[in-house]
Amino acid sequence: MPDIPKTAKAVVFDECNGPIRVDNEHKVVQPSELKAGEVLVKLEYTGVCHTDLHAWKGDWPVPPKCPLVGGHEGAGRIVAMGDGTDTQLKIGSPVGLKWLADSCLNCEACLGGQEATCANAKLSGYTVDGSFQQYAVSYAKHVTPIPEGLAMEIAAPILCAGVTVWKAIKQSNTKPGDFVVISGAGGGLGHLAVQYATAIGLRVVGIDTGDDKRKLLASYGADDFIDFKQHTGKGKLIEEVKRVCGGEGPHAAIITSAGGAAYNEALEYLRPHGTLVAVGLPPNTTINADVFFTVFKALRIVGSYVGNRQDAIEALDFAARQKVKPMLEIQNLDKLPEVYERMEKGGIAGRIVLKC
Ligand code: NAD
Ligand code: ZN
Repeated sequence: MPDIPKTAKAVVFDECNGPIRVDNEHKVVQPSELKAGEVLVKLEYTGVCHTDLHAWKGDWPVPPKCPLVGGHEGAGRIVAMGDGTDTQLKIGSPVGLKWLADSCLNCEACLGGQEATCANAKLSGYTVDGSFQQYAVSYAKHVTPIPEGLAMEIAAPILCAGVTVWKAIKQSNTKPGDFVVISGAGGGLGHLAVQYATAIGLRVVGIDTGDDKRKLLASYGADDFIDFKQHTGKGKLIEEVKRVCGGEGPHAAIITSAGGAAYNEALEYLRPHGTLVAVGLPPNTTINADVFFTVFKALRIVGSYVGNRQDAIEALDFAARQKVKPMLEIQNLDKLPEVYERMEKGGIAGRIVLKC
């Protein structure tokens, strides 16, 4: 059994919008304190998702628990398990912590593979402490096995951004050759969505802003990039999207931007029978779907919320086979406040991953 220190580093806030502090002497749950089903994970890397920023800002209808250790893209190894834990995982197994930390696995949602909507779901970095720390408690049933040989820093962003967009693509009602628009394409979720979509043969149009993001997406084989800041006149962006998608608009639009405008634009540029997949979670935002045109164009509007355990395994498998590779900037855990400032301004191409 590895040595477990009594304390270690964690990044904590006590109230939403309050100071974010680095606690170098955060209590580590000891192996004897773990309950059956719980595992202690020594984290090596954690991604920073825009959801973590929403959590700190208290953006959503139900605020997070406080004090909170945020983070839900954790990659590390199991160092202890509660007595009586029924699992094939072992001490030393590489595992990932995702947003869905735990669920009952017995309700209608869980039995149908829709674990995210389990009424008893526990959420890493929201209702339970997450991955912005060196040692985290999680749940054997839900941690995701990381393929041996896949680097921890590469696995980390797949555990939320990757699984979420892979699931969103599966819900987009598209087939190889179809046009899909990814709005927010240069961000953490978006740049992975572009890669999963091209990997399965979709024709991808990314919407975001700036030359860094344009170049990044071109390197993944995206068919087109539209800079939303260069198409600001009334109806201009919609015209441009339709133009690059064969004149008729895309078969699906996956909205991964953290701002609201992208949703209503998508309803206008989708082609008939097109699907709007709602992923990004801007606060206080409404989708204004005109009833007549929703019916007349036979549109579908689908909410897509992370993914289940199998979706996470599939998403990691693409990374293990190098079909998908996150664009990473690695920083130290202490840098979280600066990362939030840059994220707020939309200034990160790809994902920032913190060394725990
Ligand atoms: P991010 O900040 O890395 O990326 C967002 C991107 O959107 C940025 O590149 C930004 O430039 C771009 N953007 C902003 N306004 C835009 C506009 N009008 N049109 C096109 N692009 C625009 O954020 P992220 O970590 O990728 O997360 C994105 C959103 O997805 C957040 O709201 C997050 O909470 C949400 N999310 C949802 C789920 C889910 O299960 N549905 C899971 C994870 C994250
Ligand atoms: Zn996330």
